[in-house]
Amino acid sequence: MRGPRLRFLGGVREIGGSKLLVEDGPDRLLFDFGPSFSPRFEEFYVNFLQPRSTSPVKDLLEFDLLPRVDGLYSAEALYGSDLRHVPPEVHGVFVSHAHIDHAGHLALLDPTIPVYVGERTKRILDAIESSSGGHYGDHPWHVLPPGGRARVGGVEVEARPVDHSVPGATAFLIRTSEGTVVYTGDFRAHGPRGGETREFLAAAARERPIALVMEGTRAGPDPRPDRSEAGVREGVDRILGGSRRLAVVSHYPRDIDRLTTLYRAAVAAGREFVIPLKTAHLLATVGADLPPGAPVPGSSPGLRVYRRTKKVYYRWERPFLDESVDAAWVREHAGELLLSLDLHHFAELIDIRPEAGTPFIHSMSEPFSEDDVDDRVLHNWLDHFGLGFCQMHASGHASGPELLEIARHIGARSLFPIHTEHPEAFIPAAGHVVPPELGATYPLRSF
Ligand SMILES: [Zn+2]
Repeated sequence: MRGPRLRFLGGVREIGGSKLLVEDGPDRLLFDFGPSFSPRFEEFYVNFLQPRSTSPVKDLLEFDLLPRVDGLYSAEALYGSDLRHVPPEVHGVFVSHAHIDHAGHLALLDPTIPVYVGERTKRILDAIESSSGGHYGDHPWHVLPPGGRARVGGVEVEARPVDHSVPGATAFLIRTSEGTVVYTGDFRAHGPRGGETREFLAAAARERPIALVMEGTRAGPDPRPDRSEAGVREGVDRILGGSRRLAVVSHYPRDIDRLTTLYRAAVAAGREFVIPLKTAHLLATVGADLPPGAPVPGSSPGLRVYRRTKKVYYRWERPFLDESVDAAWVREHAGELLLSLDLHHFAELIDIRPEAGTPFIHSMSEPFSEDDVDDRVLHNWLDHFGLGFCQMHASGHASGPELLEIARHIGARSLFPIHTEHPEAFIPAAGHVVPPELGATYPLRSF
């Protein structure tokens, strides 16, 4: 039987879309399976134009936006495609966290392939399925506690919690016949659970791994400010303290750390934090797994749920409706509130009518390109209502210098940077750095 080897089916010279295939003898394990965020994807599919639900694999393979792998996809997803359905040749799929570029293609998998996922991640995927129309498919789900282990054939996989911009993020120690392969998933050390990341890094170094497959989102040139979550809190405190008007904030919907930061800042400034129904549903679903100090609908003081204007409310929205507030209420109590409002729901501003000079906190990444349509629309709305823009964000990813330090610290025999546009930036980190090629196989014994 052949020894361990790595194959990179996505996340190569791009941020997002990580798909790592680990093969060892007859065993084949896939780590992460989500769509690419790369500009290439958006050259063909945007907003209104998406792969057809009747033939998703065919429509993605047309532009090489999915890997051509036998024994991975379901017969249903393969409908109309020239790739034929054969019994599963991948024996387990591991998901590092609940971001779409890591989990968004699970529904395409053959339904008999087991999917391994951390317990917090599973809860978040469930919340997304029930409230956002996301669909991850029916699989034999194996839910791993932090530090939990699973065995697929002769390979043992240990799930280690790490800090990232969504709770439940996991890195994996993959113990093959020749030694350990470390896969980091996405991670940072400067967030509220940085201690978990440091524990993982120490455990990874102890394994003396034969290979490290590491995310490098912020490797290479990175002009964005290097702010921590605590830095975001200070910035928001300043903005809230300096205004007697309503304050509006946009943030990633599943970044519960950021929600916690914003909630605490609002309460400290004597304001109430007003969140959308979908956020209330997510917080209620994650429930006992919420980080300390996170807002809990129905029990946290100073937390309100906003009811958008719509004709019909879904079943998952209904538990929050009785206690919810509307645009007229927000207008009346403007100066006492921090309002979480997503760009998609900016039409609510027409009813809320914020005063000119109302601060708008953009608590998300700055746009990647200069001709970003959403960014232009966002600024048109802000200008129309006279809202003042403030950028206030901490990344979910380790900084470039931290990445190099971590790579050195783990000291794997070979380093494969993925989920980055700049894999070469790791070369100064010493050791054997291999910028992987898409679809290529790398045997691990030969190094
Ligand atoms: Zn992520």
